[in-house]
Amino acid sequence: MSKTSRKRKAGEAVASVPFAPGFKPPGAAKVKRALGRLTKPDSAYEDDGETPFFQSIPKPTSEDDWLAQYNETGQTYDQFLEQSPWLASRRLTNMKQTFNKSGQNLAEKYPDGKIYLLPLGSFGDEIPSEQFDKLVEYTQAFFGSVPVVQLPGVALDVDKSAVYWNGEVRTEPEHESDNRHGEPAEAAAAPPPAKRCKPSGRAAKGHRHPLSARFHKTQEGTTRVQLRVDGVLDRLRRSIPDDALCLVALTMMDLFHSKPDLFVAGYAGFLHRVGVFSFHRYQPGLKFSSEFWHELWQEEDSSTACECRSQEVLLQRSCRLLVHEICHLFCIDHCIFHACCMNGSGHLQEDFSQPMYLCPVDLRKLQVLCGFNIVDRYKKLAEFFQRNNLTNESQWYKRRIEFIETAGKE
Ligand SMILES: [Zn+2]
Ligand SMILES: [Zn+2]
Repeated sequence: MSKTSRKRKAGEAVASVPFAPGFKPPGAAKVKRALGRLTKPDSAYEDDGETPFFQSIPKPTSEDDWLAQYNETGQTYDQFLEQSPWLASRRLTNMKQTFNKSGQNLAEKYPDGKIYLLPLGSFGDEIPSEQFDKLVEYTQAFFGSVPVVQLPGVALDVDKSAVYWNGEVRTEPEHESDNRHGEPAEAAAAPPPAKRCKPSGRAAKGHRHPLSARFHKTQEGTTRVQLRVDGVLDRLRRSIPDDALCLVALTMMDLFHSKPDLFVAGYAGFLHRVGVFSFHRYQPGLKFSSEFWHELWQEEDSSTACECRSQEVLLQRSCRLLVHEICHLFCIDHCIFHACCMNGSGHLQEDFSQPMYLCPVDLRKLQVLCGFNIVDRYKKLAEFFQRNNLTNESQWYKRRIEFIETAGKE
């Protein structure tokens, strides 16, 4: 929904994508209002005057930047409280699971609720299973008390002119041998949640459904395929488990929403609590045409880059996309108050330049929603980044913890 790029025809640019030079980053008073009133001072939402942790959102400098294309007014903390049905005293429409009206946050209101992640189609070598586990781990650290569960994958059958969804969404493995990468039976019999990165390809009759897609045959004779998000969202909507807060499919297939799109990285259907996100365009070394969806090439010098570093870059980009889109499913809108992982992005370079963290306004929304302790959450995120050699991120969180703890003692 947020991370899109559309193909423009010659001469169409200014008319269909109005450049919005009027956007000005909000001043300190507006940002303070956006954070809302605090009953007592809380260093977790304060910044350091000398070496600020939170930068203001960059002004758009190109007509492709998100804020040049969309007039975003920003969602304040108070607006989030008013708008979010997740914190309401009535169960969300279409939800069948246990609901505690008096609960203060998601885990209390929906004690059985889970964030489900569904691997869709093959991930090849680009995202090995350990990498997938890391995505789950990051999402868990990010959302704190809400359980994050990886489901057994669903296969995509792709041929030269059709794509089929092949399988069903299962919360438990179907066969003992049905584990990822053919691991020994002991591993498959390990306690749930069952984690699998590669779909088994087996599917009971009646679980194979055509999906809308577009195809392009290249001069070299290969076929490029892009999957339309609507069909995938429809399948997810039909199969969402009863205890899901949301169901998010992750795929390496390139996605689009409507014909003029070059691609979409993610698309979420809030009403049905489902989303689908693609890591296809996040692969380091791949370059994409800004004119045609089907043109892509490998950067020439990318083979010299350290392979492990490219895995880190892919992990970082994927983690940021995934939590951004899940936050949308939880009714957190795009941010205009700071540079923040909830900023909209109009193109990949803008996406890649955004920080991994939430600004104080969005952190406060997520905290009230999930009920976590902010410092505990920061510690888990710092450890995650450190373990995965994302040093800048790890340092940011460590400095932030120190700031909060020191300021809290004053
Ligand atoms: Zn977005
Ligand atoms: Zn923000």
